[in-house]
Amino acid sequence: MSTPAAPAPAPAPATAECQLIQGRPIAQRIQADLKTEIEQLRAQNVALKLVAVMVGENAGSTVYVNQQRKLADSMGIAYELMQLPGTSTEADVIQVVERLNADPAVTGVILQQPMPQQIAIRNIIEKLNPAKDAEGMHPNSLGHVLMGDAHVAPCTASAVMEILAAQGMNLYGKEVVIVGHSDIVGKPLTLMMLNKFGTTTTCHIATSQAHKLQDHLATAEVVVVAVGVARLIKGEWLRPGTVLIDVGINKVGDQIVGDADFESCKLKCAAITPVPGGVGPLTNTMLMKNLVALARAAHH
Ligand code: NAP
Repeated sequence: MSTPAAPAPAPAPATAECQLIQGRPIAQRIQADLKTEIEQLRAQNVALKLVAVMVGENAGSTVYVNQQRKLADSMGIAYELMQLPGTSTEADVIQVVERLNADPAVTGVILQQPMPQQIAIRNIIEKLNPAKDAEGMHPNSLGHVLMGDAHVAPCTASAVMEILAAQGMNLYGKEVVIVGHSDIVGKPLTLMMLNKFGTTTTCHIATSQAHKLQDHLATAEVVVVAVGVARLIKGEWLRPGTVLIDVGINKVGDQIVGDADFESCKLKCAAITPVPGGVGPLTNTMLMKNLVALARAAHH
């Protein structure tokens, strides 16, 4: 007689208190507001046009470009992809950027990353007119993020701020830990949260190497993780009731997972973003929000 197979372990129960924060409805709400603004601009004869500059072929960038075009179409924004050969030099790309700077029909420009090795993206961004910086990555835009009066900011960092705002989260006096200090997410987000009077701590690779990441997380009320390491953050490291925003996108086998170990973290968190479906759906919407802000600034 064969022994019955052991029952599969039951999935970890979701705590009644842990709210799953879905990005899509937040994105849709923002898109609806932006559409109204775009119609108002059109009534003033202001048409919006977004141009993406892509150098060489890249499967990931092609996916992003298609998503951007679809969203732009749905919002009444003209979208153009300028595809340059993979052998282009920095001078070639700068020439294109300067042409776009001078074209009054272009509201904003995206420099699609990654670019081929011979091109330092930094050198290209600096040539872009900050008034057309749709990604909020020009040093001028980042300077305004620092000073707390930016009208455009890096899209992923803005997406996190929109999620927290949609949660009704008041950061004033909150212990905030940001894990990851990249120029596009961790650093601008630290400044944006600091500008809201969060008590911000930014952790990075050296924090982990010094074995201090858990110490910082233990006191955090809000955690944002953007490192690109699958399931780095464990639930047992978190203070009960934490709000956790997971920016990470990691491929593990045929699964996409975040930088937080979702199953253990949701047992400790008051609210958590899933991956996929949390921050991701908002990023392109923030691009369009930046574009509208650029159009308004140019025509006020
Ligand atoms: P990045 O430029 O590679 O920066 C990663 C940051 O994490 C760096 O500060 C790095 O420190 C730090 N780090 C790496 N390993 C660490 C560890 N074990 N402990 C603590 N810190 C560590 O990445 P990114 O562009 O910010 O992106 C981060 C993640 O977010 C990626 O998974 C990316 O795919 C995802 N992402 C998602 C969206 C979205 O729309 N949802 C948008 C952008 C990015 P060092 O630099 O010192 O090594």
